[in-house]
Amino acid sequence: MRGKRRLREASLIGVAPFSFFGRWRERRIQARYPIADEVWQEALAGCAPARRLEEARRARLRKLATLFLQRKSIQPVRGLELAAADRALLAAHACLPVLNLGLAWYADWSSIVVYPDVFVPHREEMDEAGVVHHARDVLSGEAWLQGPVVLSWPDVLEAGTPPGHNVVIHEMAHKLDMRNGDANGYPPLARGMSTPAWTEAFTAAWDRLHERHESGLALPIDEYALEDPGEFFAVASEVFFEQPALLQTQLPALFEQLGLFYGAP
Ligand SMILES: [Zn+2]
Repeated sequence: MRGKRRLREASLIGVAPFSFFGRWRERRIQARYPIADEVWQEALAGCAPARRLEEARRARLRKLATLFLQRKSIQPVRGLELAAADRALLAAHACLPVLNLGLAWYADWSSIVVYPDVFVPHREEMDEAGVVHHARDVLSGEAWLQGPVVLSWPDVLEAGTPPGHNVVIHEMAHKLDMRNGDANGYPPLARGMSTPAWTEAFTAAWDRLHERHESGLALPIDEYALEDPGEFFAVASEVFFEQPALLQTQLPALFEQLGLFYGAP
C-alpha cells in the first residue's frame, strides 16, 4: 500500500499457455471492444511512461489495455464517474508492468475499486503482543492479497507528481510480488533470471539507501521505499517506469534486475 505521501522461484510463463483458442479469443476481444483512437490518445496524454515507449511496444500496450478493460472490473465508488478515456488511462498505467510478462500475471485478481479521493480503510491488526490496533492511515492505494486493488483517483491522475511517483504501478508491483505469497520484494522471477542476482542487487540498494537515510542524506527515490522490502520493490518499480534514467544512474544493479523482470522501461 502507499500512504498519502505516503516462495519460491517459479516461472509463470506456463500459467496461461498461449493456446490457439486463447489467441483467437484475444483477437476477438480486440476486434469487438477496441479502444477508440481518440480515447487512446487521451489516455497516452496522461501516461508519460507509455508515451516514451517505442511504437511497437506502445501498440502492444494498447492491446494489453484492451484485454485488461475486458477482464478486470473497474468500480468507481462514492459518486465517482470514470469516462472511457479515464478507464483507458488506468489500464495503460496498469499494463506497463506486464508489457513483457503478459497479462496472465494478473490472473489471480479481478477488480479495481476507485475512490474519488484518498481513503481511510478501517481495519484491525493484532501485534505480536496480542494488542489489536485500529489502523486509520489515509491511503492513496492498496493491493489486497488475492483481492482487489483500491485506488484514489486524484492520485492516479497525479502520476509523475512528484517525479517518480505512480500509484497504479506501485500497486501493480505489489500484485506481481504477491504471486508467490506476501509482498516481500521477491516476486516470482521471469524466465532466465537469477535469484542470487536479484537478492544481491536489492539488498545492496536497500543497505545503501538505509545508510544514506541514517546519515540524513537525501535519497534518490522516495524514502517510503525503506518501509519494508515489499515497499522497496514497489517504489523502485514506480521510479523504473517514471524516471528510468535516474534509477539507472543511481542504482544501476537494481535497474538492471528490474529491466530483466519488466523489460526495458
Ligand atoms: Zn505499497
